[in-house]
Amino acid sequence: MSDTEKQKIIIAIDGFSSCGKSTFAKSIAARLGYIFIDTGAMYRAVTLYAQEHGAIRSGIIDEDAVVRLLDEIAITFRFNPERGASDIYVNGDRVEGRIRTIEVSNCVSGVSAIPAVRRKLVAMQQEMGRRRGVVMDGRDIGTVVFPDAELKIFMTADPAVRARRRYDELKAKGDDVSLEAIERNVRERDKADMGRTISPLRQAEDAVVLDNSHMTVEEQMAWFMKEYSKRVGILREA
Ligand code: C5P
Repeated sequence: MSDTEKQKIIIAIDGFSSCGKSTFAKSIAARLGYIFIDTGAMYRAVTLYAQEHGAIRSGIIDEDAVVRLLDEIAITFRFNPERGASDIYVNGDRVEGRIRTIEVSNCVSGVSAIPAVRRKLVAMQQEMGRRRGVVMDGRDIGTVVFPDAELKIFMTADPAVRARRRYDELKAKGDDVSLEAIERNVRERDKADMGRTISPLRQAEDAVVLDNSHMTVEEQMAWFMKEYSKRVGILREA
């Protein structure tokens, strides 16, 4: 490991759906010159592929069929300077614009609860963070993927605030969605993500909590820089 790599750390960001984890993680990565990995996009990509290949019909997930598809799914990321983040590709096909629909959102918690799906994606995520210098957001990053991450953040916000944010985002993209449907989805995913037996969403004991219900992006960054300096200071002294 080179000296520069040694100083780089892993920043794990976990928390509830639609908390703004990805926006936050992306800003941190840009600020520190780290790689940002949106693990939710990976679970969404598998869900979309399963929907497009007959393993999910009318919202019903055929788990065995999803598992059979896994070997033919190759997920890659490619940096898109326009977004300032990486776009996700499945077998070379850019799916970034198709993974955030309400249809995918309604099935993704079910797909992400399949053990073989988690095994495959967790192994990929661990490989991507092997050289450190990554900001990874998801549900189990600080607990399962990188239990040794140097800085763990657990994000939360009022469900109504989260639903409104997701609604505004989808509306701005021209999606025809209702606020009620979004809020139902946000609450159902929270429940499913916390209640599943494999890698449930929970706060790691050594995570710091960020409730951003009433915080601007700038305020969140200021909060982060303080936490980051504290953490790096402790690591240097150790
Ligand atoms: O972060 P995002 O809301 O896009 O994640 C979509 C879904 O993927 C979550 O509701 C959860 O079911 C699943 N997920 C997960 N583990 C992760 C990231 C996401 O189970 N590390």
